[in-house]
Amino acid sequence: MARLRTEIPGPRSRELGERRKGAVAAGVGSTLPVFVDHAEPGLLVDVDGNRLIDLASGIAVTGVGNPAPRVAAAVHEQVDRFTHTCFTVTPYEGYVEVCERLAELTPGAHEKRSVLLNSGAEAVENAVKIARHATGRPGVVVFDHAYHGRTNLAMALTAKEVPYKQGFGPFAPGVRRVPGSYPLHDGLPGPGAARRAVAAVERPDEVACVVVEPIQGEGGFVVPAPGFLGELAAWCREHGALLVADEVQTGFCRTGSWFACDHEDVVPDLVATAKGIAGGLPLAAVTGRAEVLDAVHAGGLGGTYGGNPIACAAALGAIDTMRELDLNAAARRIEATVLPRLRTLPGVVEARGRGAMLAVELVSAEAAARVAARCHAAGVVVLTCGTRGDVVRLLPPLTIPDEVLAEGLDVLEGAMQP
Ligand SMILES: *Cc1c(COP(=O)(O)O)cnc(C)c1O
Repeated sequence: MARLRTEIPGPRSRELGERRKGAVAAGVGSTLPVFVDHAEPGLLVDVDGNRLIDLASGIAVTGVGNPAPRVAAAVHEQVDRFTHTCFTVTPYEGYVEVCERLAELTPGAHEKRSVLLNSGAEAVENAVKIARHATGRPGVVVFDHAYHGRTNLAMALTAKEVPYKQGFGPFAPGVRRVPGSYPLHDGLPGPGAARRAVAAVERPDEVACVVVEPIQGEGGFVVPAPGFLGELAAWCREHGALLVADEVQTGFCRTGSWFACDHEDVVPDLVATAKGIAGGLPLAAVTGRAEVLDAVHAGGLGGTYGGNPIACAAALGAIDTMRELDLNAAARRIEATVLPRLRTLPGVVEARGRGAMLAVELVSAEAAARVAARCHAAGVVVLTCGTRGDVVRLLPPLTIPDEVLAEGLDVLEGAMQP
């Protein structure tokens, strides 16, 4: 059966696109303006009956599948029991259980605590709040090409001006941006890149935390050189600052381990998670050293919806799925089949990534946009990224059927031809 029934977007999607213009803010973009009707394994089926190959997972969210049976069952069960109480008014078991799982799964065997939130940006903001409270210091160190979200403090931490920051200032103070590790462009070994980074920090004794993506996401799927993260961790220990790992995009099996820090045996003080945690339901967390989290006074952390019971049920279903299907192994298999193939494609400056977080850097933003547009026209959902916009990235669901993934790669290969 042919996957596509109409041109992309089809007539029904175009109609909804017109309707959208009269109601949805223009500032909310869409990479591929097909309106989705439902999903099947590895596929999004649009309102015109086109079956699109999903190599984006809603930006690394539906790694467990969409919908994933255990997530769906857990949501159905919870939604019929109760939908909300606000954990800070009257608690419920699901929240506690998610925090217990986070303590088990995040790097390090030390005693941990968690706070649950709604989005990656909120998690990163809370990590900074907690680090400032614990250290009594104001400063935050972040990196070139960093992406940490769209709220005010998160915009301050994010590097890329357009579209994330342009016209939205003033931004939160206290943020120092330093060079990171981008092996293709700086050629530095990891420890050297880290030493260059911290050398740019004028007052180490005023730094509350260093916030780092263990593999940069929106900034271009940049895998730091080995030893970069470890050297940052050592600097933090030496200067009494906390290492905050933003694992929002890299977490929950995406890179072939529970967290990307695991690949380097780095144990951050605080870990921010979201995206892949709950199979598509909005949930986020900050997990870290018990003494750091517990130092915050009662009432200092929280929010109306943070750790919503339906989202917690979904997270427990998603984590069960990751374990049962061994999605870490699945991500490593995807790396083993896809990465060598990406290296052979024409026009690739560098193919890189880990697990099912893979990308090709191309010669220009125009080249990346052209490849993405060709994939979209052929019904394959891919995203671009990179501060310069010159990277095409792949974030397939970890449960994508082999033949669907192979067909998606065939389309990508065709799109890369000059
Ligand atoms: C997506 C992302 C965020 C922001 O998450 P939201 O849920 O969109 O607020 C923060 N950090 C990283 C690394 C991300 O990829």
